[in-house]
Amino acid sequence: MRILLLGGTGEGRRLAGVLSRHHDVVSSLAGRISAPTLPEGEVRIGGFGGAGGLASWLREQRISALVDATHPYAQGITANAVVAARAAQVPLLVVHRAPWHPVVGDTWRWADTMDDACMLADTYCTPVFLTIGRQELRAFEGLPEVVARVIEPPGCSLPSSWHVITQRGPFSVSDERALMERHRIGVVVTKNSGGDQTCAKLVAARQLGIPVVMVCRPALPSGTAAVSSPRAAVQWIDALTRGAE
Ligand code: NAP
Repeated sequence: MRILLLGGTGEGRRLAGVLSRHHDVVSSLAGRISAPTLPEGEVRIGGFGGAGGLASWLREQRISALVDATHPYAQGITANAVVAARAAQVPLLVVHRAPWHPVVGDTWRWADTMDDACMLADTYCTPVFLTIGRQELRAFEGLPEVVARVIEPPGCSLPSSWHVITQRGPFSVSDERALMERHRIGVVVTKNSGGDQTCAKLVAARQLGIPVVMVCRPALPSGTAAVSSPRAAVQWIDALTRGAE
């Protein structure tokens, strides 16, 4: 099968490695970061030009299955994938890792949007530790005391009182504790990304009794087939392959 794998995540890289043993896989990255960890096999980088562009690409490249393994908060590309797959009549599966859930000792408040998260964070002690990526930092620019951690420098101007840390995970619990203690963090704001690469901050917050403002995941377009693990995605591809034989 010729498979388009929308990636930019660890799951995308893992799937590219497994699926390319038996299939012709093209991984697609948005091109947001300058030196991404590349998946095995063929890689293309950059947008398709909306759902229409993606549908044309699927047809031109004779793609027989589309796997969307993008980040659970990459709402735009997932919406485009749903529309494009329908238009090009290509089966689509979304792979979104399972979300985190609070455990005993956690103090989580849920926010529907970044603006809500900003308002909630403002009700706690500062500084606010922002670990939401760099694209939506400006929603918090009304908060003067912020420690923001990003993979690459944000391409926008931010309040001069902010402390911006440029660092790529994974992070250990002891590193996260040290960072929170060093900066006397009052509240953590994060997306519910799920997975084990970035969950140490939640353990550290629990151990230090620091509250967390958790930004809810965007809903998947209704009727979209979705699984939470690369293994389930491989099984889906296997079933499609058997059906095509
Ligand atoms: P987004 O808002 O959903 O997508 C915006 C546009 O970027 C899409 O319409 C598409 O452009 C292009 N795009 C996004 N992902 C693409 C991909 N894998 N291949 C080709 N084009 C892609 O996306 P985002 O939230 O900025 O995320 C961008 C990438 O970073 C995603 O691949 C995602 O997996 C990864 N990522 C995101 C987050 C996050 O928190 N959002 C965290 C970690 C990793 P066209 O309309 O021109 O096709």
